[in-house]
Amino acid sequence: LPEIFIKALPVVQTLTKAGYEAYFVGGSVRDLLLNRHIHDVDIATSAYPEEVKQLFERSIDTGIQHGTVTVLYDDDSYEITTFRTESGYQDYRRPDHVEFVQNLEEDLKRRDFTINALAMDEYGNIHDLFNGLDDLKNGLIKAVGNPERRFNEDALRMMRAVRFMSQLKFSLEENTRQAICDHHELLSKISVERIREEFVKMCVGPHARSAFQVFLDTQLSEEVPDFRGKKEQLSVFPSLTFSPSTEASVWAIIAILLKLPNEQIPKFMRDWKNSNQMTRKVEEIVFFFDLLSDHSPSDYELFLAGQDTVMSACDVARILGQPVNSEALVDRYVALPIKNHKELVVDGSTLIEWGIKPGPSLGDMLAKITEAVVDGKIANDEEAIKNFIVE
Ligand code: ATP
Ligand code: MG
Repeated sequence: LPEIFIKALPVVQTLTKAGYEAYFVGGSVRDLLLNRHIHDVDIATSAYPEEVKQLFERSIDTGIQHGTVTVLYDDDSYEITTFRTESGYQDYRRPDHVEFVQNLEEDLKRRDFTINALAMDEYGNIHDLFNGLDDLKNGLIKAVGNPERRFNEDALRMMRAVRFMSQLKFSLEENTRQAICDHHELLSKISVERIREEFVKMCVGPHARSAFQVFLDTQLSEEVPDFRGKKEQLSVFPSLTFSPSTEASVWAIIAILLKLPNEQIPKFMRDWKNSNQMTRKVEEIVFFFDLLSDHSPSDYELFLAGQDTVMSACDVARILGQPVNSEALVDRYVALPIKNHKELVVDGSTLIEWGIKPGPSLGDMLAKITEAVVDGKIANDEEAIKNFIVE
C-alpha cells in the first residue's frame, strides 16, 4: 500500500477496534487501483459523528450535519463520513437532508459512478458491489444504478462524468451517455461555481479534447454560461494540438475560440463567476496573444506584459497551432535591463523632488523614462535619467 494509506491505517483501525465498520472509500481507492497519485484519503464508517469525535483527540466539525468530521491524526487530516443515504433532492441539486444508515452498501449506492463506489477495508480487501472493478479495467464511467434517476437527483454528476473521462482517459458507458443526452438541460439548475470547477478540471485533464467533444455532443455545452449556440466555434477545442495546462490558459483559449473582443472578456469571466484576479490574468494573456499574432513584440511590450503573461500567451499560441519562439522571447525578457517598475531607480516622488509638477504629464514622463531604460537607450541611473529629462 502507498504510504498515504499506511499512515491512515491507524485511523481506520481505531474505528474498527471500537466495534464500528470503517473503510477507505471514493477517489482514493479508485486512484490506488489505477496507480494514480492519491491526494487525500476519505473514510466511511458506521460510527455516528459524535462517536467518531469521541475516539480521536483532535477533530473538526467539517460538515457534521452531513455526517462528516475531519480527524487530525499525526500531521495529516482525514474526512470521516458516517454511512448515509441522501434524500429529498430538490431542484436537481444536492440533497437537503441525509439519513445515516448502518451498512456500507447503502452508502456506496448513493455515490455517482461505479469506479467511485469502491471501498477498501483495513486488510486491503476491495468491496465492489456495483462492478466498479470491471469498469475500472475497461475504462468506463458508468452511473451507479439508473443513470436517469441519478442525474435527476443531482445534475452536477453529468459534468463530473465528462470531467472523469478527461482525467482518467475513460469512455462513457452507453446508458450513462444516453441519460446525459436526454437530461442535459438539468445542468442549468446547478450553480455556475460548481459547474466551473468540473469544467476546468475537464479542460486541463490528459484527455481534455475527447471529453470536450462529449461535452459538446451531449449538449451539456448548451447549459453553461455564454456557450449556447456556440458549438461551431467551440468544436475547435477537440482538434487543438494540445490541451491547456492551466486554468488561465483554459479561459484564454475559450475566449479566443469564441472570438470575444477584449472588452467582452470581463463579462464572460463574470458570467462564469471567475475572480477578478483570474479575469485580469486572462485579459492580459489574450491581449498579448493578439499582439503576438500581429507583430514581434518590442522590448518595452515584453516588459509591460511581464514574464508570466509572455509565457502563458506563448503557450496559448502553441496550443492554437500558431507556434512562436517562446524560448527566444523569454531569453529577451530575461536580458531586459529592468524587469518591473520597481527596479527603476526613480519614481514619481523622485521626479517631484527634481521639480517636476505632479499631474498626468508626470506619468507620461515616467513611462518615457521606463521605455528608454528598457530599450537600453539610457542607463538605469539618476545621472542618465536627469540628462534624458533635460533633453
Ligand atoms: P478527486 O480526485 O477529484 O477528489 P473524488 O472521486 O475523490 O475525485 P470528490 O468530489 O472528492 O471526488 O468526491 C469523493 C467521493 O464522493 C466520490 O468518489 C464519490 O464517491 C462521492 N461523490 C462526490 N460527489 C458526488 C455526487 N455529486 N454524487 C454522488 N457521489 C458523489
Ligand atoms: Mg476527493
